[in-house]
Amino acid sequence: MKTPKCKSCNHHLEWKKVFTSLWFPQKTATCSQCMSHHEITTPLYISILTVVLTNQLALLINNFLSWSSIWMSIAVVIALIISLIILFSIFIPYFARCRLVD
Ligand SMILES: [Zn+2]
Repeated sequence: MKTPKCKSCNHHLEWKKVFTSLWFPQKTATCSQCMSHHEITTPLYISILTVVLTNQLALLINNFLSWSSIWMSIAVVIALIISLIILFSIFIPYFARCRLVD
């Protein structure tokens, strides 16, 4: 698994920079080699897969826990979805694509 390559010098962009620009779209990833800026995008299938997978996993985990109130189980599902999205986003930089911006 590798992070996207810089469009001007083919150097792999740092995971940390790709990750940051995924969470903060206004931030661009800078190549440490040639200092060119890149806009990071995620392929649509990765976004869909992440959403579907997190929802299914959260519901599955919630099934094993029995809560007396519906609100408690909704709160747990939301908390699980948030933590799973954070967990999955660790791997998203490896599937991300980049576009050179000036
Ligand atoms: Zn570069």
